[in-house]
Amino acid sequence: MPIQTVGVIGAGQMGNGIAHVFATSGHDVLLSDVSADALTAAIGRIEKNTARQVSKSQMSEGDRDAALSRITATTELGELGGSDLVIEAATESEEVKDQIFAGLAPSLGPDTILTSNTSSLSITRLAAKTDRPERFMGFHFMNPVPLIQLVELIRGIATSEDTYQTLLAVVGKLGKTAASAEDYPGFIVNRVLIPMINEAIYALYEGVGDVASIDASLRLGANHPMGPLELGDFIGLDTCLAIMHVLNDGLADTKYRPCPLLVKYVEAGWLGRKTGRGFYDYRGETPVPTR
Ligand code: NAD
Repeated sequence: MPIQTVGVIGAGQMGNGIAHVFATSGHDVLLSDVSADALTAAIGRIEKNTARQVSKSQMSEGDRDAALSRITATTELGELGGSDLVIEAATESEEVKDQIFAGLAPSLGPDTILTSNTSSLSITRLAAKTDRPERFMGFHFMNPVPLIQLVELIRGIATSEDTYQTLLAVVGKLGKTAASAEDYPGFIVNRVLIPMINEAIYALYEGVGDVASIDASLRLGANHPMGPLELGDFIGLDTCLAIMHVLNDGLADTKYRPCPLLVKYVEAGWLGRKTGRGFYDYRGETPVPTR
């Protein structure tokens, strides 16, 4: 089934990036949010990010104008019902997501594929509460969406092969690469990445190394582009902790125990770059390790 009109629900950090990549790859995008301010901010962000692409000669001015004209912002969820594909990227709460899918149901076309960008909720469980579990999938983009090459495709237990193949083709049209993950906590990327960051925090907590030596070890010793503590600060330490809880609760293995030092940083409100302080202090000219 060809996908031309795409509804994106939630215009936050992820929603604006998802709308950006669909519009620049030729899709018509309906971007919705409960907050008109969030929509205004998202359109502003897309305008800025596409202008940067033009200034770097990654896109022509004409293509940028065409992409921007393909995005329509709305606070009316029902307007998305006729889309070929809906991508839910609202706040990470099962209650919010269930309400969105229920609110959309009366106006939804029979063939529309529903997807969620959730990082941690069960796709099978979200799908089971809709009228179309066979046309429901996890569609997991990563932040910042225009820059990250990978998209995880997560099949719920009932997802049909047609739905999967359709989304695989969509990922190709976006110029991105898909990885297929089964529907288990953290899927693939977060299942591997976040425990690595948690382990780096354990190494710090136990005094195996300080912030600078742990990050230098992984950057220079394992060729990682960023050290794990730097990366934790970039993702947000609250997000890292939330994902450790999901792994710990969902997989019930002590290896997913959140490090007490991670909990302490989150309790202090030292969440990383977004709050100006985490394992590094970002308030000066250059980041300074906090331990
Ligand atoms: P965000 O807080 O930046 O944005 C969420 C948006 O959803 C807000 O603008 C909010 O107004 C809107 N919203 C809330 N309730 C709504 C409703 N009922 N209807 C419509 N819009 C509603 O969050 P985010 O970081 O963009 O995350 C969105 C989703 O993407 C979450 O499921 C998250 O797990 C997932 N995700 C996030 C990241 C990341 O790095 N931030 C990465 C991958 C996946």
